[in-house]
Amino acid sequence: MSGLQPVRGTRDILPEECRQMRRIEDASRAVAARFGYEEISTPIFEFSDVFRRTLGDTSDIVTKEMYTFTDKGGDEVTLRPEGTAGVARMLISGGLTQDLPLKYFYRGPMFRYERPQKGRYRQFHQVGVELLGVPEPLGDVEIIALGAALLDEIGLGGIVTLELNTLGNSESRAAYRERLVAYLQDHREALSEDSRSRLARNPLRILDSKDLGDREIIAGAPDFADSLDAESRDFFGAVCAGLDALGIGFTLNSRLVRGLDYYCHTAFEFTTQALGAQGTVLAGGRYDGLVEQMGGSPTPGVGWAAGIERLAMLAGEQASEARPVAVIPVTREMESEAMVLAHRLRREGHTVELAYRGNMSRRMKRANRLNARAAVILGPDEAARGAATLRDFDSGAQEEVALAALSDRLAPYR
Ligand code: ATP
Ligand code: MG
Repeated sequence: MSGLQPVRGTRDILPEECRQMRRIEDASRAVAARFGYEEISTPIFEFSDVFRRTLGDTSDIVTKEMYTFTDKGGDEVTLRPEGTAGVARMLISGGLTQDLPLKYFYRGPMFRYERPQKGRYRQFHQVGVELLGVPEPLGDVEIIALGAALLDEIGLGGIVTLELNTLGNSESRAAYRERLVAYLQDHREALSEDSRSRLARNPLRILDSKDLGDREIIAGAPDFADSLDAESRDFFGAVCAGLDALGIGFTLNSRLVRGLDYYCHTAFEFTTQALGAQGTVLAGGRYDGLVEQMGGSPTPGVGWAAGIERLAMLAGEQASEARPVAVIPVTREMESEAMVLAHRLRREGHTVELAYRGNMSRRMKRANRLNARAAVILGPDEAARGAATLRDFDSGAQEEVALAALSDRLAPYR
């Protein structure tokens, strides 16, 4: 029967959740627009190399989570696990690096082969923003402020914490890497297999490990802050000062590393206690090396992505859609007229429900269940006069209204 189930980690999204998710998307798009970020859309699948080259071949995403397949033409493609690599590819293939700075907003499904659980799916959805061509710390501040403004807009400002760290410039990272490797070598035997294999290739990523044994070792690891050079410290200082000036609170978390190779300087996450283990709702950082690593000209970038499902779960119930007006024929003979009237009103912009069958009282009950705002009751006598009865469900008031005047009369109910 497996063919009748959705594939593990994928879900059908029913109207109520679609509504919640759309509200998150709409709010994100609107807040992004206020900051001057315009919507773009890149393909849902790319050549696998786009992700391999940018995410690094030791990342969890590349080693374990990608949906990769060979298409009928023999090309190896991957369903996108995240949005930034595609945006960087677009910048290069579209020759857009001539027009910097660029500010983009995107939304859409992402695909990762993960162990499904609450708030963690194999097909999930993200909204994200990217600021390209701004090397100054002001860019980091703007990007974080945009994230904070979105979380405020959807009512989550009070339950999230901004965690902040810096990975410094490449010299600082190299210096830190040396100290970290020296420390981890001493604990090599106790590290998980994954982490041992990363020790040579990408030790920083071990800080991101979710393995409990690893986490104990990581707790004693040297602090990144001690390896920062003056430039890196100044940059981070400016980001913190900018956030202070905007009244955006944060806590420093020196263990916060983004799990991807191309991040430098600022790394941040907005987290919450309200979702159990899946506590990160919005995460991002600076990725100055990415575009160049993909073969484009050096282009600084900073951005974030947020999981729409997690945001929707937190934001919870929202006011429902526009309440409909129900068109109700009194007799079977009036059904066709009811259909024509409903069609006309819909074309004039009203939200209209046609109660499809049953006697008057069944149809009225159905209108109630749909939370209708009013009913237009079409009886043969009124119809003969070119009129219908309008009943306001909230006030209980009822009056006869000329069909020609109905649209205007219903305007306040829209
Ligand atoms: P995690 O540590 O939870 O695995 P991540 O570091 O892999 O997160 P990012 O790649 O930074 O996550 O993605 C940004 C956001 O997208 C996350 O903070 C989360 O809200 C959401 N997200 C990531 N993976 C999933 C998933 N499998 N299902 C639902 N949402 C997800
Ligand atoms: Mg992950």
